[in-house]
Amino acid sequence: MASDTDFLLALENVSVSFDGFKAVNGLNLYIDTGELRVIIGPNGAGKTTVLDLICGRTRVSEGSIKFKNQEITGRKEQEIVRLGIGRKFQTPTIYEDLTVFENLELSLPRGRSVVGALFWKRADEVIQRVHEIAATVFLADHVDRLAATLSHGQKQWLEIGMLLIQDPELLMLDEPVAGMSVSERAKTAELLNQIIKNRSVVVIEHDMKFVESIAHRVTVLHQGKVLAEGNMQRVQSDPKVKEVYLGH
Ligand code: ADP
Ligand code: MG
Repeated sequence: MASDTDFLLALENVSVSFDGFKAVNGLNLYIDTGELRVIIGPNGAGKTTVLDLICGRTRVSEGSIKFKNQEITGRKEQEIVRLGIGRKFQTPTIYEDLTVFENLELSLPRGRSVVGALFWKRADEVIQRVHEIAATVFLADHVDRLAATLSHGQKQWLEIGMLLIQDPELLMLDEPVAGMSVSERAKTAELLNQIIKNRSVVVIEHDMKFVESIAHRVTVLHQGKVLAEGNMQRVQSDPKVKEVYLGH
């Protein structure tokens, strides 16, 4: 009998091999509802691969991934999105030649766009929703701009907005502040602390100052396994962590 879990997301004994190399190796990871978890670890630790496994982009070789107690290993990427898992890649995947408004509108679940709406009232709701999300990601004054003209940081926010508009229960972000200015980083921390009210968030990040400003708990990944886990203080003072990661 499969065991039930109270966690929103539970990875148990998950492994994946690429030509015999175990990029993820017997990983256990549990995410609570409403939690903001940060995953850190040296390059090649398997962080991005873990997100690939959860969102169905890469197949697990072994183990179980449960989302709200449902086994999701083996499901297609689109199906996993529909179950409520959104994922942001390292480089923004936005439509450069469309406006901010259009990018957000396109990301609404199908049939809810202005064009797809049958009644003016419904179109009105769509417009409202797009403006609400634009405001959340600091783009309220930029809705009519072409995405190509946004700063790098604004593009990252737009992509987060494109995920938020789908209202995922679990949002996963791979290095969201890479290439951002100090003030953009601070605003992104503010954004994540705000959106956590309605969902769980998993963030992969290198910038320790940023991690400190957002993380509830930190998981340190090393060679495809959990090396340490806990609050920031505990993880930072762990001698194993110092050795493999924070030391250099
Ligand atoms: P991180 O995000 O922690 O820097 P990754 O998850 O990207 O690490 O990569 C972990 C290891 O797995 C690396 O050695 C990488 O080269 C390897 N790897 C990742 N994806 C693939 C793939 N699709 N095919 C082969 N090797 C891969
Ligand atoms: Mg990575």
